[in-house]
Amino acid sequence: MRCRDARAWLTEEHRDSEAEMARQRSEVLAHLAHCPACRHYEQQQQQLKRTLYRSFSPVSCSLSTEQIMQAIYLRQRTTRQLEELHQQQRTRLAHLQTLSSLLMISLFILTASIPVLLFLLFFNQPELLVRTLLLLSDVVDVSLVALTYLRLGLSFVSQDNLLLAALAFLLLLLAAMWLRLMRVPQEA
Ligand SMILES: [Zn+2]
Repeated sequence: MRCRDARAWLTEEHRDSEAEMARQRSEVLAHLAHCPACRHYEQQQQQLKRTLYRSFSPVSCSLSTEQIMQAIYLRQRTTRQLEELHQQQRTRLAHLQTLSSLLMISLFILTASIPVLLFLLFFNQPELLVRTLLLLSDVVDVSLVALTYLRLGLSFVSQDNLLLAALAFLLLLLAAMWLRLMRVPQEA
């Protein structure tokens, strides 16, 4: 028997009959007896087989079936909750979009209707328009008078240093009070 045949026999699967296999085995063994290279090859093959068997043998599982089922159940529940959350978010977003578009439309209508209303008012009830305008001018007058008084007061104050200091102090006091009132309430 040649080395090549012996190694082929060592490597491949055997589907021959029992008698044929026994005959071949004795031939290979005879070859191995006087061929160190093939003996070494055969040992390597055995080692490889053992290693393969060890790595493919079933691993002892420390998890019980109950634990695995529980993990699966938990995972399913989490997935369902996430799905529900997503659904809620989508619904809320849709509501918000509807609301904002409604708001935009109403704002648009309101803005567009103001000139139309003024136009109608001007043509139907001119005296109402005049009255409104008079009221507006009154408001402007009052504010002008108030501004004048304020300017007068300020000039008066700026002439008197003591009064200015008192006013500054008062402003500071007011600011402090405002800050104190507006402070974020902490523990009672
Ligand atoms: Zn050989």
